[in-house]
Amino acid sequence: MHTHHHHREAQEVIPGLRHFGQGIYGLDSGYTRDEFDAIHLIVEKGRVAVIDTGTQYSVPFVLKALKSLGLGPEAVDFIILTHVHLDHAGGAGALLQHCPNAQVTLHPRGTRHMVDPSKLWDAVCQVYTPEVAHRDYGGLTPIDRARIIETPEGQTVPLAGREIVFWDAPGHAKHHVFIHDPKTNSFFTGDTFGISYRELDTAQGPYIFASCTPSQFEPEALKASITRVMRSNPRAVYLTHYAELRTVQEAGDFLLGQIDRYVEIAHRHADKGAGRARAIENDLQTMMFAEARGHGVDMSDAQLRTILDIDLRLNADGIVCYLDGLKA
Ligand SMILES: [Zn+2]
Repeated sequence: MHTHHHHREAQEVIPGLRHFGQGIYGLDSGYTRDEFDAIHLIVEKGRVAVIDTGTQYSVPFVLKALKSLGLGPEAVDFIILTHVHLDHAGGAGALLQHCPNAQVTLHPRGTRHMVDPSKLWDAVCQVYTPEVAHRDYGGLTPIDRARIIETPEGQTVPLAGREIVFWDAPGHAKHHVFIHDPKTNSFFTGDTFGISYRELDTAQGPYIFASCTPSQFEPEALKASITRVMRSNPRAVYLTHYAELRTVQEAGDFLLGQIDRYVEIAHRHADKGAGRARAIENDLQTMMFAEARGHGVDMSDAQLRTILDIDLRLNADGIVCYLDGLKA
C-alpha cells in the first residue's frame, strides 16, 4: 500500500516520468510546454547518469524524479550533455551544485561555454531580450573546469560498470555528441536524430522532422550522423524532443529525404535579401503540414502551427545561416 501511495504522489509532482526499461527513464523538463523537452536518466546499480538537463527551472523535477526512484542527488555520477544549446544544457551548472559526486560530460567544443557561460548568456539575451531570457532559462551557472570530462569521438565513461560511449555527431551543431548505451543498443540523440512530438503520433507511427537551429546546420554532416546511427540497428533512440522512438529505420529514412528538401527550399531563396527568413518559413510550413497530413495527422492549420511554431521559426533562421555560410 505504501508503495502504491508513493507512486501516485510521484506522478503528481514529476511531469512525464516514464520508465522505458533496463534503467532508462525520461521526464519532462517543463521547458516551453508538456512533452516538448525531455530529460533522460540511466540508472545502473543505484548510480545515475542524467542526459540533458533542461533549464535551471528543471532542477527540482530531476531531484524529485531521483527521490521517487529511492535515490538522492549523491547517486548522480554523470551529467551528460548532448550539446550546449540552452534547452539541453541550461540547467547543468545549477544541477551540478546539488550533486556532490557528479561530473559533467560534453563535447570539447562546448567546454568554454559551460566554464564561462557569460558569452552564451549575452547571446541569448540579445536574441530574446534579458527579461525573456530570464523567464525562459533562469540563468546559467558556471561549471568548474575540474568537474568536466570532455567526450570526443570514442570516449567512454563507466556508470557502475555500464559503459557509456560517445560519438561525435555534427550536423545540428559542431558541439553535439551521440550517447550510445551498448547494454540496450540505444542512442540518446539530442537534436541530431530529429524532433518528434508525441502529439503528432498517428496509426502510421511517429512524425519526425530535422532540426536545423542556428547557426551550425550542415546538411551532409547531419545525414552522415543519422546514417551512422541507423547502421547500428538500434533498439531505440531517445530524442530530447521528445523521448523514445522505436521506429529508427523508418524515421531515419524519412529524415534523410527531408534534409534534401530543406536544402532545396534553401536554394530556392538563395538570392533573396530581406524577408527571406519568412519566405523560407512559409515554404517549410507548407512542406511540413503536407508531410504531417500525409502521415495521418488530423489537425487544423492553427493546431499544427501551435505545435510546430518554435521549430518553424528556428529552422527558417538556421537555413538563413546556412545560406550565409555558403556565401562566406
Ligand atoms: Zn540544439
